Amino acid sequence: MAKKKFHFNPETLSYEQIEHTIAHWLKQLMIHALSGVFLGLIFFFIFVSTIKSPQEKQLSQDKAHMEAQYKVLERQLEEVQYVMSDLQQRDDNLYRVVFQADPIPLSVRRGTSANTEYYEQLLDMTNSEIVVSTTKKLNELRKELYIQSKSYDDLILLAKNKETMLENLPAIQPVLNKNLTRMASGYGWRIDPVYHSRRFHAGMDFTAPVGTNIFVTGNGTVQSAGWEQGYGNCVQVNHGYGYVTLYGHMSAIKVRVGQKVKRGDVIGLVGSTGKSTGPHLHYEVHFKGQVMNPQNYYFLDLSPAEYDRMVQMSNNAGQTFD
Ligand SMILES: [Zn+2]
Repeated sequence: MAKKKFHFNPETLSYEQIEHTIAHWLKQLMIHALSGVFLGLIFFFIFVSTIKSPQEKQLSQDKAHMEAQYKVLERQLEEVQYVMSDLQQRDDNLYRVVFQADPIPLSVRRGTSANTEYYEQLLDMTNSEIVVSTTKKLNELRKELYIQSKSYDDLILLAKNKETMLENLPAIQPVLNKNLTRMASGYGWRIDPVYHSRRFHAGMDFTAPVGTNIFVTGNGTVQSAGWEQGYGNCVQVNHGYGYVTLYGHMSAIKVRVGQKVKRGDVIGLVGSTGKSTGPHLHYEVHFKGQVMNPQNYYFLDLSPAEYDRMVQMSNNAGQTFD
């Protein structure tokens, strides 16, 4: 049986029984229900924030695992970057120097600034910082690798050209000259054999019997072959790369203009034609129109010691054969 409730009425000075209306009951019910829900929510949030579900535990484990993997990846990237910078240094300071190519500027090697929009997109993801930094490193490395491989392409091309260049450069003596016995006179100011005054000798004289073979000193094309004032029977060979060689006073010419010649081919025979005081070969090397000292162009058949001896001998010779 429900308890009866009374309240004191000060006007009538008596206790009156409280009559409960349906509205009153509903109000009471609402208050209790709401406070129940409110308390329930509080307990739910406390529970959720402190105790994790098995799925959540799995997720946070995965996240930690992924972060660790990214860190390993980043370390490996740093190692690769180190190898890369070593390659770049060698490329600039060794390979490109050997092939006379300019070093690649750092701005080109590092590439233009990164696509920031792309990284901003990444920043929205969880793990963003490590993902962004790893992605950045990877992109930079990819760019640097591309530039480096391009540089190697250049070098391969340069090396191929250099090979041809080395075959074309005048690099041997124009007559057989064992023990350097054929050296007569070198390049520079010498006593003229005809006028007996000091004159500039633009080449090197090799004494040899008439009919001795004259070899072309590098690959090239015969530019002229015939009689020339002072030089007598004379052959000029164009080697490309700015180099021309000249062979004078021949007794016989063995090539014709436009003929391709290879280093060591016989192009004529020693003689004493033109302004000459005895059988000899007058040999000149020209580079870009300038007369050079031929003694610097025998590097393929002279040892350093022989080279020294040749320099001394050619400097001592006072009179040329012209
Ligand atoms: Zn000479």
